Amino acid sequence: MAYIINDDCIACGACESECPTEAISEKDGKYIIDAEKCIDCGTCAEVCPVEAPQPEE
Ligand code: SF4
Ligand code: SF4
Repeated sequence: MAYIINDDCIACGACESECPTEAISEKDGKYIIDAEKCIDCGTCAEVCPVEAPQPEE
C-alpha cells in the first residue's frame, strides 16, 4: 500500500519535506510518491492544502 497524489495537486511542494521516508519528489512540475518508499503514514495528506494525496485503493 502507498499513497498516490492525484490530479488535484497544485505542486505547492508542502508535502515533500514532511515525508519521513523522502518518498515524495517533483517530476516535470508534478509531485509523485515512490510507492516503494511510502510507509502509509498519511502525513502528506495532512499537510496538503487540496487533499491530493490519497490512500491507494
Ligand atoms: Fe510519505 Fe507518509 Fe505520504 Fe507515504 S503517506 S508519501 S510515507 S508522507
Ligand atoms: Fe501537491 Fe498537495 Fe504535495 Fe502540495 S502538498 S505538492 S498540492 S500533493
